Amino acid sequence: MSDGVATVSVRVHGAAGEVTGSCYEVTTPCARLLVDFGMFQGSPEQEVRNTSAPNLDFEKLDAVLVTHAHIDHCGRLGMLPALGYQGPVLTTEPTAELLGRVLTSSATLQQLRIQEKRAGTAPSSRVLVPAHLATSIPIRGEPPPILFTHRHAERVARSIRAVPFMEWEPIADGVDVRFLHASHVIGAASIELRVQRTQGGEPAHVLFSGDIGPIDNPLLAPHQWPDRAPDLVIMESTNGARRFKQVDQYEALCNILREAITKNQRILAPVFALGRAQTMLQLFARASREGVLGGLPIYLDSAMACRASELYARHPHLLEASVRRSCLRGSNPLHFAELHTLMSRRESESIDRVRTACVIMAGSGFCDAGPILRHVQVAIEQPTTRILFTGHQLDGLLGHGLLNGATRVEINGAELEVRATIDRLAGISGHGDADDLLTWVKRMPGDVKQVALVHGAEESRQEFALVLRANGITDIQMPMTGDTLRID
Ligand SMILES: [Zn+2]
Repeated sequence: MSDGVATVSVRVHGAAGEVTGSCYEVTTPCARLLVDFGMFQGSPEQEVRNTSAPNLDFEKLDAVLVTHAHIDHCGRLGMLPALGYQGPVLTTEPTAELLGRVLTSSATLQQLRIQEKRAGTAPSSRVLVPAHLATSIPIRGEPPPILFTHRHAERVARSIRAVPFMEWEPIADGVDVRFLHASHVIGAASIELRVQRTQGGEPAHVLFSGDIGPIDNPLLAPHQWPDRAPDLVIMESTNGARRFKQVDQYEALCNILREAITKNQRILAPVFALGRAQTMLQLFARASREGVLGGLPIYLDSAMACRASELYARHPHLLEASVRRSCLRGSNPLHFAELHTLMSRRESESIDRVRTACVIMAGSGFCDAGPILRHVQVAIEQPTTRILFTGHQLDGLLGHGLLNGATRVEINGAELEVRATIDRLAGISGHGDADDLLTWVKRMPGDVKQVALVHGAEESRQEFALVLRANGITDIQMPMTGDTLRID
């Protein structure tokens, strides 16, 4: 350090010791950037945090960079116009295609939740029995304040610029950016910054991991790594305390499907529209090819998931090699004869009357809102219903309660017995497990100098820090919100 001014400083504004609210402010000698501007999610208390913008001068930002189109990374971008930011939002091409729709849908949903609250029709759910779960799960009736309007979402959508993967793009004085494939969801990237030092010499490199998908992702192309070891890696640690590899999800799913057909069951699968839905579709497509489905209808009740799925087929170069080859031969990897897509509430309600075995995938993935909540309300008292969870459930929400033994619940004001079977398909995650995370960081060329662990529950990042230390990475930081990391 020659002049007391850091070459790069990164101030953490969210996702520190928790898994939502990603937002990092980067300051270089000549530029200011924002990497991600995500929502806090999981409870009404968390959602209220979204209304307080990070304490920074948005008007002075040179660029906003986005890793991917998940709400916890991009959900507050719609607030940028009101905060005074007029500049570009840079991301990858598939994320650019999704982002505008994600933001306008979010604006519509925020407005709808206010209307529903006024009309007394806001979705709500809670566990009644057993008591120890009931006390911890609040009714989800209180809508959060509106964060941004449709008009502001559209304005941000117009400012989005797509940058090709692996190409350096100058974005401000002395700063270039490059997007590296993160194998998490379509378009998801790690973001590499190259910053010229004022005193000359080698530029400083900072890498924001974004969300890191599994190594050997069966659907997406492998990760891309930088050409040299970064001086600082801001790294996610969502699954830092988990290992998945021993589970064969496909066989486990096939067993569930065979049983559903034999016992005439209705399987309800809460999924997120981007990522989890496509992972499940790929498994169902294989089950279809191998004759396991045998005509069993699979309903995808999410217009956003349908659109996101189309995007996978439109970007075959971002798919896993064998999937890419079949895609280039004209076969959509996420489509199969038994798939039915439901694009409206009317179509969603039309399957309430189906009495034969079927699978219904719908959002929200936490089972606390969206069409899945209505499907659960309709079918949870039927012993032939099976609710199949495929991902982590946030403590305090209905999905978590059901997985932990809830026997009586209240959904949208109706008291219901849980007669459905509650099931979990383990090991399905858009995030790599601890071994994948370690492989990802160790595969950098050269020795990574400094790693800051973010985007993971406190116990996950603490445990993953032990893994890193055991593997020779010792300069590890675990910043809290408001902390600043520096490269001199
Ligand atoms: Zn993500």
